[in-house]
Amino acid sequence: MSRYLVTGCAGFLGSHLTEALLEQGNDVVGVDGFTDFYSRDAKYENLARARASNRFSLIEGHLTELEADRLLDGVSGVFHLAAQAGVRGSWGSSFSVYVTDNVLSTQRLFEAVARAAIRIVFASSSSVYGNAETYPTTEETPPRPISPYGVTKLGCEQLMHAFQSELGLDAVALRYFTVYGPRQRPDMAFTRMLSALLRGDVFTVYGSGQQTRDFTFAADVVAATIAAMDAPSPGNVYNVSGGCEASLRDVIHISEGLVGRRLKVENDVRAVGDVQRTAGDTTRIHRDLGWAPSTTLAEGLAAQIGWLRDPVKFPSSFGHPSARRESSRQRGGRSLPSLAGASRASVDKKRRVG
Ligand code: NAD
Repeated sequence: MSRYLVTGCAGFLGSHLTEALLEQGNDVVGVDGFTDFYSRDAKYENLARARASNRFSLIEGHLTELEADRLLDGVSGVFHLAAQAGVRGSWGSSFSVYVTDNVLSTQRLFEAVARAAIRIVFASSSSVYGNAETYPTTEETPPRPISPYGVTKLGCEQLMHAFQSELGLDAVALRYFTVYGPRQRPDMAFTRMLSALLRGDVFTVYGSGQQTRDFTFAADVVAATIAAMDAPSPGNVYNVSGGCEASLRDVIHISEGLVGRRLKVENDVRAVGDVQRTAGDTTRIHRDLGWAPSTTLAEGLAAQIGWLRDPVKFPSSFGHPSARRESSRQRGGRSLPSLAGASRASVDKKRRVG
């Protein structure tokens, strides 16, 4: 068993990854700056199970302020998920937060990881593609982000290649495609839409609602992320996409069926920076890591609805990631047809960067 560093451990995906690593018998050192993008309480709740384990230790702090070399003491690999996420908030003066939390933090970590000669798995994003030239989009497709957030993620990938070439950094980047499931961030479309549906509130659809996303369930993302720690060829970039391309209107339709109620919808203009479509080709990750998504959109939505109804009781782990990886292989990989959607979040926050 190993000892891993997980950055962003209190977030949506970092907390699931931390739990999965602990369940596999590993030790985890978690780092999180508890940035004010959303509530600190929600992040502590995300960490409740991990904190109950004596193999978990939490370091509270921002990656630009912590001594990176010391974080890596006794650690055999790093999962770097800490970032300022979200496309729509990345315009205007908030961009400095994205530069600090994403680019500068990652650069400091890459420096230290290269010195320590251990592997780092970096959470990149499908946002690097922008409106891609081809669908399903392979990793060879020229990245052309159309949001400042996507630019920072692409900048981190380019830093990764530079550090790999010149300093021998052992790194793998994973381009996550719109992730959903229990603990999804409050700014994200599914959380807002499902909360409105459960409460009988009005949900705002930005744009036509026909934009599509390749939705990816959190447990599948966790399985891919853990598998990447053992990827054969460092320096690789992999798509991590769920095979569930769908429009927001499709998602609403499925959700209404699951909840047994109609959603009240209002329409607004398309949000700037929102791409029209995402659909990832997962041939490369399947070939190298044997990973394929295994959760259908209906299964994943049901899990997220269960969590929203009862965050305490709902089981926060979705089964052992390696078991899921095996089962997806047995099932031959991609499982579901499609859906997506996005809407403009009111995340035009300005915050001090510590
Ligand atoms: P999240 O906001 O829930 O989690 C990020 C965590 O990192 C937060 O707890 C925050 O406090 C912490 N953090 C941010 N910057 C930090 C810094 N510089 N130092 C220390 N802590 C810091 O986000 P998430 O949805 O769990 O995303 C995790 C990662 O996956 C991010 O890198 C994100 O860009 C990437 N990603 C997510 C999605 C998605 O659909 N959720 C899609 C593509 C990529």
